[in-house]
Amino acid sequence: MNIPRTSFPRVVIIGGGFAGVALAKKLSKQEVQVVLLDKNNYHTFQPLLYQVSTGGLEPDSIAYPIRKILKDFPNFYFRLASVEEIDTKKNKIKTNIGNLKFDYLVVASGSKTNYFGNSEIEKHSMAMKTIPQSLNLRSLILENFEDALLTSDLNERNALMNFVIVGGGPTGVELAGALAEIKKGILPKDYPDLDTRLAQIHIVQSGDCILKGMSAKASQKAEDFLEKLGVNIWTNVRVTNYDGKTVTTNTDLTFETATLVWAAGVKGATIKGLDSEDFVTHGNRIIVNEFNQIKGFEHLFAIGDIASMISEEHPHGFPMMAQPAIQQGDQLGDNLLRIIEEKPLRPFLYKDKGVMATIGRNRAVVDLKHFKFQGVFAWYVWMFVHLFFLIGFRNRMVVFVNWVYNYVRFDREARLIIRPFKRNRKF
Ligand SMILES: Cc1cc2nc3c(=O)[nH]c(=O)nc-3n(C[C@H](O)[C@H](O)[C@H](O)COP(=O)(O)OP(=O)(O)OC[C@H]3O[C@@H](n4cnc5c(N)ncnc54)[C@H](O)[C@@H]3O)c2cc1C
Repeated sequence: MNIPRTSFPRVVIIGGGFAGVALAKKLSKQEVQVVLLDKNNYHTFQPLLYQVSTGGLEPDSIAYPIRKILKDFPNFYFRLASVEEIDTKKNKIKTNIGNLKFDYLVVASGSKTNYFGNSEIEKHSMAMKTIPQSLNLRSLILENFEDALLTSDLNERNALMNFVIVGGGPTGVELAGALAEIKKGILPKDYPDLDTRLAQIHIVQSGDCILKGMSAKASQKAEDFLEKLGVNIWTNVRVTNYDGKTVTTNTDLTFETATLVWAAGVKGATIKGLDSEDFVTHGNRIIVNEFNQIKGFEHLFAIGDIASMISEEHPHGFPMMAQPAIQQGDQLGDNLLRIIEEKPLRPFLYKDKGVMATIGRNRAVVDLKHFKFQGVFAWYVWMFVHLFFLIGFRNRMVVFVNWVYNYVRFDREARLIIRPFKRNRKF
């Protein structure tokens, strides 16, 4: 990989997401050599992926070059590489561009979509975990409307205009809200010769409410907001299959649709060498102690979504969200320096900064630790927080300007089929 060995200890970080970037920033001006590896050369701000999928934002406004984040830091190396295996005995990783030895290894590889073993659903559904996937979804939504215009078969037209979202968590809810706004504000203008009232948006949720991780008030309010927007919410219904045409469930309910979005869960993106039962627990996440050390090792760590730090309060580890990832990256930076200076480690203490979700314009739900609120003010808070955590001044400005423009004009101008999404449709 052409990375020189220096007198500084080498810390290899796998993944430039929230956790990996927070850690790299913390170590960047210290006497350590930091090697960050990612299969993409950019950091993705995943909370706004749904806006890319629905034409509200261009993809480059929620992505940021990793090299630029750390450009001013000495002793920092980035390599565009996919890590294929971790050799814990030889302190070495194997990647698609070569092997690399490490003194300390930090796995921050995040998570991937969990299809719970259903390969049919995996094959036919749309995921929204990466920018390319969001662009695929954007293209498919628009292609479906173009095709709906052409067909004279009413069943086919209905299926093309039916959107089924599996999972009533923040991702499903935010996507449904955005699709409902497209139906209301964009479709009648863009497709005057199509009966856009036919467009139906469904959320299918196996639990008894949406936004299960939030307060009962937030969940109820989100349901009210979505119903006002015309979204159909099906609770206590579990999707059992989708063959590209029909969605079947564990009840009599079925849906005919050309678009099933799978937002029903994620699992840790483990890497060979640390993927056996010895290391992995619930949700395919790597078991770590309170210092983020991987079971059985003092120099191997996991942070962010991939790490499961189990405690009485969090029996399945911390929620797979940006805040635990950022805070763990930051804390591990301190602890790595303490290890090098031979000082005792400090345990990770999570500062819960709350959860929020937005449901179309002017509506959001926010649960802070001591304060819960919903509606317009919550929507402003949601926007401010997302702008604040976006990386890069340009991105913040672009997103802000887009939001103001979209708000004032009731518009979403990025409704472009730049890269058509080709799929063998069954209609
Ligand atoms: C659609 C969506 C909406 C979300 N909304 C919110 C929200 O509103 N609020 C919130 O707090 N959280 C939200 N989340 C969750 C949040 O984005 C994650 O919890 C967070 O990104 C976890 O950070 P991480 O650093 O652990 O992993 P990630 O940010 O996923 O980063 C992992 C990185 O590792 C890289 N990588 C993985 N495997 C390899 C490999 N083998 N080799 C090289 N590189 C590799 C990936 O390319 C990626 O860059 C959302 C997630 C999604 C998908």
